Amino acid sequence: MDYKHLSKRLHRAGEFVPEGSKLADIGSDHAYLPAYLVMNKKIISAIAGEVVEGPYQSAKNLVAELNLSSVIDVRKGDGLAVVDPKDDVTAVSICGMGGALIRDILDRGLKGNHLTGKETLILQPNIGEPTLRTWLVNHSYHIIQEDIIRENEKTYEIIVAEKVSEKVALSEKELLFGPLLLKQQGDVFLDKWQHELKQFHNILTQLEKSTKDVSDKIAEVEQKIEFVKEVLA
Ligand code: SAM
Repeated sequence: MDYKHLSKRLHRAGEFVPEGSKLADIGSDHAYLPAYLVMNKKIISAIAGEVVEGPYQSAKNLVAELNLSSVIDVRKGDGLAVVDPKDDVTAVSICGMGGALIRDILDRGLKGNHLTGKETLILQPNIGEPTLRTWLVNHSYHIIQEDIIRENEKTYEIIVAEKVSEKVALSEKELLFGPLLLKQQGDVFLDKWQHELKQFHNILTQLEKSTKDVSDKIAEVEQKIEFVKEVLA
């Protein structure tokens, strides 16, 4: 992957960034996503945020090499702490991390007033999507788009959300599968859940062997199996 040839995963996430955005890409690594979007004139400007020195330097080097320092500001810091309301950011992308980590970044960002609520969130968790959806719902973010893609034997979900004045509640089933993915389905979605179903059965077998009281966990896994069976039926 480089800034000209994004991975399928990152390319798809980029497609959800609204035209003309002022983007904050958090956990930007080499700044490939903002560089690609600026070079393709999809966005006006970007902040590339990185907390780790090595990737931060890689991002700085790429931006300097491409002569993009006037439009991509590489900032070192934890999560959304690199963004100020004065930056007038209109979109935030957080890609390639676990759902719980993305949730924590958003949570700290909201509590620290780094998010204004005007930003479109483009989130690509590698795992832990229900955890992230739960946070979004609880903080009045409405999921407006979702997609699921497969690359190198891995499945990735992309969640796009916007702040709304009234919470839009989601059922347990929608939190698990994604409210829009549940409607869209498709081959990648069905393959993922067939695989997950096998995993849930394996987990259940292990739990049933446990000598501890794991009845709550068993009930939770059984519920998921029920949901998946309904969806695959
Ligand atoms: N976003 C890129 C992508 O999707 O290809 C890079 C993903 S890489 C696996 C995750 C990046 O997030 C790493 O460069 C890591 O240093 C950075 N990161 C992790 N936690 C972070 C945080 N709290 N704030 C900013 N960057 C973070």
